[in-house]
Amino acid sequence: MAEIKKVFVVGAGQMGSGIAQVCAQAGFDVVLHDIKDEFVERGMNNINKNLSRQVEKGRMTEDEKQAVLNNLSRSTDVQNAKDVDLVIEAAVENMEIKSQLFKQLDEITPAHAILATNTSSLPITEIAAVTNRPEQVIGMHFMNPVPVMKLIEVIRGLATTDEVYQTIEDMSKKLGKVPVEVNDFPGFISNRILLPMINEAIYAVYEGVATVEAVDEVMKLGMNHPMGPLRLADFIGLDTCLSIMEILHEGLGDSKYRPCPLLRKYVAAGWLGDKTGKGFYDHSKN
Ligand code: NAD
Repeated sequence: MAEIKKVFVVGAGQMGSGIAQVCAQAGFDVVLHDIKDEFVERGMNNINKNLSRQVEKGRMTEDEKQAVLNNLSRSTDVQNAKDVDLVIEAAVENMEIKSQLFKQLDEITPAHAILATNTSSLPITEIAAVTNRPEQVIGMHFMNPVPVMKLIEVIRGLATTDEVYQTIEDMSKKLGKVPVEVNDFPGFISNRILLPMINEAIYAVYEGVATVEAVDEVMKLGMNHPMGPLRLADFIGLDTCLSIMEILHEGLGDSKYRPCPLLRKYVAAGWLGDKTGKGFYDHSKN
């Protein structure tokens, strides 16, 4: 398998810009791709801001910052993926869009290239099946914020080869991250455990067991969680929480994953958490 030198990051949003930053910091030649110039620019600005903060804190010199920026180039044409060794896709969480992208990337990228997706909840095996190289498709599930969080869940699709898995495990370590091997089942490990906990916390409020604040206080002080599950739900976005619960419920076919009716109600009301200013907490003043 060819050594990974050039990485094509698809999607310059919250995750894609973080992924591009850590790849560039590790010395890879990185192309940051999105559908519009302004989105790529917004991603590059985020990276610039993050790196400047590192310089201010004395963790990086101005020269080192420039070296990282020199490893990055911008793209709004997917044909720029024609000479890359690895794609990390971090576009929106939508099966239709990801399928389209993987079909295109399969046609454009060299035969040796590995196609990775940062999906949080869509099946890797199903994404792989739209390509002619399912054995070279894999999940690289980074955590938010990418430059800070150490974990990468590396998810093997049904056809992913050992060689491809090993290459991505090695790559993850080069990024200074800790890879953990997971097989492709709904929610992988992270969301299969985290989201039912959040859903149960919502049930506790729904059934009148305790207030929102009390539930979070118990989990913070009693279980040493840095953030209570309901505060975390607001941070993740209640629409995202609901969609992941639905994927677990449908994919695993077990009623224990049914989304709490209160979660559905909040989403229907447009109370999505931090991003709309209201969820389990009032964020309008933040
Ligand atoms: P985001 O909305 O911040 O960014 C998505 C970007 O993808 C946008 O800039 C959008 O313009 C771009 N995009 C959409 N369609 C595209 C296309 N066809 N080609 C190229 N770019 C396209 O979203 P995000 O939070 O960065 O999430 C991206 C992916 O990462 C999703 O699959 C999400 O599930 C996953 N993820 C998110 C988190 C998180 O906490 N936000 C954590 C882990 C994984």
